[in-house]
Amino acid sequence: MAVLRLDRIDPLISGNKWFKLLEHLRLAQHSGAAGIISLGGAHSNHLHALAAAGQRFGFATAGLLRGHAQENPTVRDLQAFGMQLHWLGYGGYRERHQPGFWLPWLERYPGWHAVPEGGGGPLGAQGCLLILEQARSQLAALGWADYDAWWLAAGTGTTLAGLVLAEQGAHKVYGAVAVPGDHGVAGNVEALVPSGNAVYELIDASRGGFAKADAGLLAFMRASEAESGVPLEPVYTGKALMALRERVEAGAFERGSRLIFVHTGGLQGDDRHAVSRLL
Ligand SMILES: *Cc1c(COP(=O)(O)O)cnc(C)c1O
Repeated sequence: MAVLRLDRIDPLISGNKWFKLLEHLRLAQHSGAAGIISLGGAHSNHLHALAAAGQRFGFATAGLLRGHAQENPTVRDLQAFGMQLHWLGYGGYRERHQPGFWLPWLERYPGWHAVPEGGGGPLGAQGCLLILEQARSQLAALGWADYDAWWLAAGTGTTLAGLVLAEQGAHKVYGAVAVPGDHGVAGNVEALVPSGNAVYELIDASRGGFAKADAGLLAFMRASEAESGVPLEPVYTGKALMALRERVEAGAFERGSRLIFVHTGGLQGDDRHAVSRLL
């Protein structure tokens, strides 16, 4: 197994969220948008990446947050990066899929570009095409002529969809889904990839609920980190890698198979690793 360390592309704008933002940033710049507004939970890696990008590249950002005002390391970073925060409560946040949801916000922030929750949707997937290119350009350094499949954590499935689109059926993409079965990940992916040459499989890696960490997971992460030196977090990457190990142990892959595990980042939300807190 090779690990594509998207957690290492930048200390602040980390992981798959950078790729999911790429096309949105291009579009916003192209259309002369005055700023970028998006939404997410109080621990959102997506809002964190957007706010950090805003500070780095000098554009204004606003974040609509689920729930009621709270303090946590992610929220403190968002504020430090200069993002305008608005807490929608839980009911207000549930209305994000209603047709008129964005209207009042775009009246308040005229000419701003709105990015869907988590950076999802076709533009988000399109930015992830680049992940394939970046992995392939490094295969030779590993002495790999080819590989058999991809394995990565999935939340909305947007990053997985980008890889499936990029592969056009050449290699299978396994998504270890961090949310329980009723969250519509399969539907999201189907909406993003034409079924013709899409080769992927979704595996339930939620282990009893989104962001729920059991003792078995934490012990696996500690052992894996000690052995490999690759830091994990419990919400996505830890569960994805553990699900892969279970699959390997169950004999799902032939000996000698070559897998690319995408480290999708997310370490900012885990106090054991958070780089930004040290800056
Ligand atoms: C957001 C996130 C994911 C899920 O990405 P999707 O494109 O929504 O499937 C996976 N890993 C990490 C670390 C994330 O922050």
